[in-house]
Amino acid sequence: MPTPLPRRNALFLGALLAACLGAALPAGRAEAAPKKKESPPMLSIAVHGGAGVLPRADITPEKAAMYAAALETARDAGYAVLERGGTAMDAVEASVRVLEDNELFNAGRGAVFDWDGRNSLDAAFMDGRSGAAGAVAGVQHIKNPISLARRVMEASPHVLLTGEGAEEFALEQGIQLVPRSYFFTKQRWEQLQRSRKGDRLAMTTIDYFGTVGAVAHDAQGNLAAATSTGGMTAKRWGRVGDTPLIGAGTFADNAACAVSATGHGEYFIRNVVAHEICALVKYKGLTLAQAVHELVQVRLKTQGGDGGLIAVGKDGELVLDFNSDGMFRAARDSRGRKEVAIYPELYVAPATPAVAPASN
Ligand code: ASP
Repeated sequence: MPTPLPRRNALFLGALLAACLGAALPAGRAEAAPKKKESPPMLSIAVHGGAGVLPRADITPEKAAMYAAALETARDAGYAVLERGGTAMDAVEASVRVLEDNELFNAGRGAVFDWDGRNSLDAAFMDGRSGAAGAVAGVQHIKNPISLARRVMEASPHVLLTGEGAEEFALEQGIQLVPRSYFFTKQRWEQLQRSRKGDRLAMTTIDYFGTVGAVAHDAQGNLAAATSTGGMTAKRWGRVGDTPLIGAGTFADNAACAVSATGHGEYFIRNVVAHEICALVKYKGLTLAQAVHELVQVRLKTQGGDGGLIAVGKDGELVLDFNSDGMFRAARDSRGRKEVAIYPELYVAPATPAVAPASN
């Protein structure tokens, strides 16, 4: 029978053994002081419907409510994907498809006309996790260009396909093509006539601009960006804007941010806006809000480059900014942010007038 250890020795050996075991166990399993509970990654999404808005004087409460409802529907379509555990890529595609199908916005069905009276659509898609990207420019028969852009990324060895070649690829991929008449809307046709006459005074920013886009951060911490547009009204000579140019109107990098832009494309191309914002965050240590401000309120504004953008950072924080009169936009995250807006202030639905009780 082993000789019992004197009590003090036994206590000392016990403490030593516990200390050694603690050191040998992986950190997570060691008996430690109560740890701070880690919060789950934030789910977040923002959408925009373009930096070209109606002048305040021309917007009726009904019109404002219509735009707000459309933006909320698009935002929530993407947010529902995130809530189900879906990817940021699936979320931004879902949101942008809703906006493309709505004729209020300059993308897909509501696309503006070019100088020759045709609709010529551009779109781009980017995965912040892998850095993969896909884009199309100048397509005329694609109902949802954003899905074709994603397919370029996933099923072709290229990044940017244009015109007929892009549509040939769409056919091979079984993507829905539609006749040109699908894109005809009276409102856009009238805009083209005003623009052709050079009637600048009769035009407002909604006559020139518009584009739709989405950025998102998912439960895995991945980012994605998607942008789709009809470009600028009365564009000529095969003009392509910033939207389908990776780094100009669309960019995503898990290590920095994801951005979708809208506005006068030529300025966004020259300033490589979307990539520049992510580079300022990644290499210069600016916060996302500071980087967005630098591009939108300083560089573009100084040059006369009207527009705005939506951005999401690597922790899921959302930044929405513009230097035009307004930007159709909506945002939502899992920490309770939920908003929609057209002009600088947030949109608040007018209270429904109380119904007077019927008098008997
Ligand atoms: N950025 C788009 C383009 O220049 C237009 C817009 O966003 O309104 O094609």
